Amino acid sequence: MSRMPGRNFLFVPGPTNVPDRVQRAMMVAMEDHRSSRFPDLTKGLFEDLKKVFKTETGQVFIFPSSGTGAWEAALTNTLSPGDKVLTFRFGQFSHLWAEMMVRLGLDPDIVDVEWGEGVPPDVVESKLRADKDKKIKGVIVCQNETATGVTSDIAAVRKAIDAAGHPALLYVDAVSSLASIDFRMDEWGVDLCVTGSQKGLMLPAGLGILAASQKALATRAAAKMKRCYFDLDDMIKSNATGYFPYTPALPMLYGLRESLNVLFEEGLEDIFARHYRLAQGVREAVINGWGLRLCAKEQKWWSDTVSAIVVPEGINGAHVIDVAFRRYNLALGAGLSKVAGKVFRIGHLGDLNELMLLGALGGAEMAMRDVGIDIEPGSGVGAAQEYWRRTDPVPKKKVSRQEVVYASHSAGSLEGQ
Ligand code: PLP
Repeated sequence: MSRMPGRNFLFVPGPTNVPDRVQRAMMVAMEDHRSSRFPDLTKGLFEDLKKVFKTETGQVFIFPSSGTGAWEAALTNTLSPGDKVLTFRFGQFSHLWAEMMVRLGLDPDIVDVEWGEGVPPDVVESKLRADKDKKIKGVIVCQNETATGVTSDIAAVRKAIDAAGHPALLYVDAVSSLASIDFRMDEWGVDLCVTGSQKGLMLPAGLGILAASQKALATRAAAKMKRCYFDLDDMIKSNATGYFPYTPALPMLYGLRESLNVLFEEGLEDIFARHYRLAQGVREAVINGWGLRLCAKEQKWWSDTVSAIVVPEGINGAHVIDVAFRRYNLALGAGLSKVAGKVFRIGHLGDLNELMLLGALGGAEMAMRDVGIDIEPGSGVGAAQEYWRRTDPVPKKKVSRQEVVYASHSAGSLEGQ
């Protein structure tokens, strides 16, 4: 392929665009990670990450891995071979979680939910109520299923666990939601939460981050799964003095410092409101502009970080993505596994604004027309523009997605939300 001039428009739902100042912060000379000065950097990172997870009592761990490594750390440090866990599968990432549980020798009860829906709290409650001997050690859920653009209600999952009076730990995958969609570790009683650096944290891939409650940490002694590199015991000992049990990924840590600065300057609540507003503009484009539909079946599942758009019958979504990339230098997200070819995805998370998204919508529109989808040129871009023009950049009242009631999924304006 010849050189493609101009910027690549990166609209996959991670890795996301890295702000220039974060990129610059990572251009550091290597240094001694055992120096007496090093903890000045690391101790602040641990404390500030707790604010992002909204935990005061939990502890945060930073691994040089991706989000998947944090999954492995969460499971192996808290469970024993053959332990029963309850999990829900409704997309590629919740599927991979379940597969990891099997491969690590756990005994997961995998509840299959239609792709396009999220975690059903009533099933969490009934499954736990039926577990009279309290054999289920963990409830493991994805807050934001990136493959389908579905966000689940974690507060409702906690309520369901409490309603059943069950002691299972609550594990949450917040890889594509942390720092973009509200997450409240302490308030929602989450015991283990995992994320990666390349999404809402606006960094390259390379860090797997885990937050663990004191209840989760207390299970370590009895947890018999084999662990070595991801053993929290080693981390806890070294982190206490601001060090790591091995050579840390120095530039990533400096980048993390700067990305946390960026997050706190904007403010987490304003970031959530921005993501909601940007997502609403995309939904205006998809539903009211193009007349297409989202993979997420109901409005309550709509994700503010990624939209999976269903292509019309007879069209291959992979074709749209390929044309967008080759002709317009636009990277859209692929349909994965069960929805391969049926959807394409627009990631709308991280460091982005309206005009960047208009580029993505414009490119998607051209690529869709190129492959034969009958949409009006400018219809999606126009619908998003009008929505963003009409609404406050940061709503005065902070909008919680659970509170919002929309007119109808398939038709009607989203105005006034
Ligand atoms: N969970 C979710 C929801 C994801 O979106 C991803 C990656 O996109 C992962 C887990 C895996 O994370 P990683 O690729 O950082 O290992």
